[in-house]
Amino acid sequence: MAEQTPMMRQYLEIKSGYPDAILFFRMGDFYEMFLDDALLAARILDITLTSRNKGSGDEIPFCGVPFHSATPYIAKLIEHGYKVAICEQVEDPKQTKGIVRREVVRVVTPGLLIETESLSPDENNYLLALCQGSGDQWGCAWLDLSTGEFRVTELTGAPAAVAEAVCVNPREILLTDGLDVGTLPADLRAFLAEKIISRAPAWVYERDYAGSLLCGQFAAASAEALGLESMPHGLMAAGAALYYLRENRKSAIPHIRDIRVYQRSEHLALDPATRRNLEITATMAEGKKSGSLLGCLDRTATAMGARCLKQWLSYPLVGVEPIRRRLDAVEELLEAADLRDDLVAQLKQVADLERLNGRIGMASASGRDLRALHESLRQLPGLLEQMERLQSPLLRSLAQSIDPLEEIRTLIGRGIVEQPPFSLREGGIIASGYHAELDELRAISHEGKGFIARLEAQEKARTGISTLKIRYNRVFGYSIEVTKSNLANVPADYIRRQTLANAERYITEELKNYEEKVLGAEERICDLEYTLYQEIREQVAAQSERICRTAAGLAALDVLIALASVAGERNYCKPMVDESDVIEIRDGRHPVIEGMKLGERFVPNDTRLDGDENQVLMITGPNMAGKSTYMRQVALITLMAQVGSFVPAASARIGIADRIFTRVGAGDNLARGQSTFMLEMMEAASILKNATPRSLIVMDEIGRGTSTFDGVSIAWAVAEYIHDVPTCRSRTLFATHYHELTELSATRERIKNFTVAVREWNDQVIFLRTIIPGGASHSYGIQVARLAGMPSDVIERAKEVLRNLESGEFEEGAPRIAKSSKRPPKESPQFTLFESSEDQLRLRLKKLNIATLTPLEALNLLDELKRMV
Ligand code: ADP
Ligand code: MG
Repeated sequence: MAEQTPMMRQYLEIKSGYPDAILFFRMGDFYEMFLDDALLAARILDITLTSRNKGSGDEIPFCGVPFHSATPYIAKLIEHGYKVAICEQVEDPKQTKGIVRREVVRVVTPGLLIETESLSPDENNYLLALCQGSGDQWGCAWLDLSTGEFRVTELTGAPAAVAEAVCVNPREILLTDGLDVGTLPADLRAFLAEKIISRAPAWVYERDYAGSLLCGQFAAASAEALGLESMPHGLMAAGAALYYLRENRKSAIPHIRDIRVYQRSEHLALDPATRRNLEITATMAEGKKSGSLLGCLDRTATAMGARCLKQWLSYPLVGVEPIRRRLDAVEELLEAADLRDDLVAQLKQVADLERLNGRIGMASASGRDLRALHESLRQLPGLLEQMERLQSPLLRSLAQSIDPLEEIRTLIGRGIVEQPPFSLREGGIIASGYHAELDELRAISHEGKGFIARLEAQEKARTGISTLKIRYNRVFGYSIEVTKSNLANVPADYIRRQTLANAERYITEELKNYEEKVLGAEERICDLEYTLYQEIREQVAAQSERICRTAAGLAALDVLIALASVAGERNYCKPMVDESDVIEIRDGRHPVIEGMKLGERFVPNDTRLDGDENQVLMITGPNMAGKSTYMRQVALITLMAQVGSFVPAASARIGIADRIFTRVGAGDNLARGQSTFMLEMMEAASILKNATPRSLIVMDEIGRGTSTFDGVSIAWAVAEYIHDVPTCRSRTLFATHYHELTELSATRERIKNFTVAVREWNDQVIFLRTIIPGGASHSYGIQVARLAGMPSDVIERAKEVLRNLESGEFEEGAPRIAKSSKRPPKESPQFTLFESSEDQLRLRLKKLNIATLTPLEALNLLDELKRMV
């Protein structure tokens, strides 16, 4: 290294401070990367890798990107989970001898992005700081730098910490330096394995340090003033998050104005499995918004609203009063359809104020951003006027938080031209009439253009050289150009400036004066415009708190309008929420499935759950009957009600739930190295430990992952536990295809049997999708196999085996099943298990004897054939 050039020494020194980031080293118009960074970046960015000292045996690989188009390259590296340290030249190369001083001015990390290009408009981009304190207390703080949102809470136990982290869904997680992830509980480890992890030094977490950092940022006198006195671990996490932000951002973050302290118990708790199973914000299979509850409800008009709705769905409420306030607002908006349309039209004109506010605060806003703010603010007086009609308390208070910021709007309107250029340095950004000196300079500069034309004409006339021209050149400035053939006519007062192959260039006293005035003016214009722009931006930034409050008000209004629109379109009803233990739904539907094109109409169903006679609904019925759909629908309706949304039902009364638990279907966590059955049992165990009489449990086919006898036994014991143990006693929907479990209701007073109605016809089963009291008589597995297109020979044989099993006629060592005859296939012998439904259809038609069919049978048959297709 001693033999490195000074430049390389500087590079290596700076790089040593950022070992875990890719260093973008500014050299002239490029950001260069060297050594390992270069190898990595060249591969990911697909750019050419070259090397310095080629062939010297001491080659240094390097690559580079132009500084003015670096953003997409940075975004790509971030997307791949890397950090990028931006190192700029911090002095003017023209004014320095030797090597230019360079400094890292900021580090871009996945959790601290602000570039619009790298952010998804309707999603937040969070950094989450997690720290384990004494015992099993966890501090959890999260922030979105792009919007300025900052929250903190404290949790007990790793599972709660994981649940919260999953709910926040951060892009990057900050842990304490030296914390060994390998020693953490399994579920937390599994969660962290899929995340980008960064570290903060341990001393940052010290109470005093963290506290003073936070107090400094929020201009608070003490941790008490921030509401953090009873959250020592929350304080530590929040301090670490702020430290990390400051370390990487390195410039002011005035738009982060306060930190919101919250308790987990203020919200309906949903564990990660339940969030996934109920497909609240993303589908289980593909992780997409479309097909989830969020996808179904999101009719928001602004990005702020879309993010807010996602938050509401992630944090449903548990207090009757706040829920009712939202419901009343939705109701009022639902009834005022025309007003709603007007409001939506205005909201659509409003830009993403939260992120604009962030960029303005962090001094990265362009003139266009300020103009976008101006346009948005212009909508507000009209919007507020419309809102005057609205009476419900929540809407009234939202209207109060929306501030049209008149003086800011006027300031931008007066100060910034309507279509500003993207660059802040080249002028053309400040409106005329805003600043007297600027107007004067512009007049000089403008006048100058006419002056050149006049001077040229004057000199042509004076010298008689008709080809004489006044030229401008960046290095030499203005000059009068005369071709060689006309040199004889050049007057004596011309001073030679430059000689070309075919011409000479001159300057005159008059031209020189002019040059000084004009060039000086243009430079001064750019400087002055930049200064004026910064002044305006700072004045706007000073109002960031008001902008923030306005944005929050608009976001909530947008969400309430969206909920009213869906309610109107989908015919939802206003749920009655109270503190009772009753969940009573008439004609409930599944919000997502009812909107899908299934080829059959969605059949609504009733539900009654309570703490007395209907605590556990034991639902039996064949596969594919609709059990899972029914149970999820009840859970989703409860959740929607607690979000403050109308619900897909004719009527609903929802006694607030403190938690919703689900154990649904076979998870696909094999990739995490746990068997499905093990996972199923872990989830069930955690439900039994955490459920309360206020909870709602959905148990779907528990015990399915093991042998029948084991499965029945486990399901049986779990149901008894939920029924019998007073601390649990949750309202429960329990689906099983073991019809043995229907016997539980004989001895347990609060267990009621239900089944999905089916019609049997001609050895076929038709699902009616209606939930009715009673137990299923048998499980129709074979009929379902037939529906699935299993070859008829297999079906016939299965029936035979079943008859033998049911009659229990086994001989020692040689069951009847094995002995019974196995007829050779009658139809085409080349049937495969997966033959198409067309083949099945053809077969069914071939077998058909129309002569013996009654009209009713014919209709049913038609229905069956339709289903086969
Ligand atoms: P199960 O859990 O009993 O096996 P599912 O709930 O998975 O059955 O339902 C199977 C299919 O039946 C669903 O994919 C859906 O298309 C349809 N289905 C379920 N419930 C209804 C209903 N109430 N109305 C119409 N179709 C339904
Ligand atoms: Mg099911």
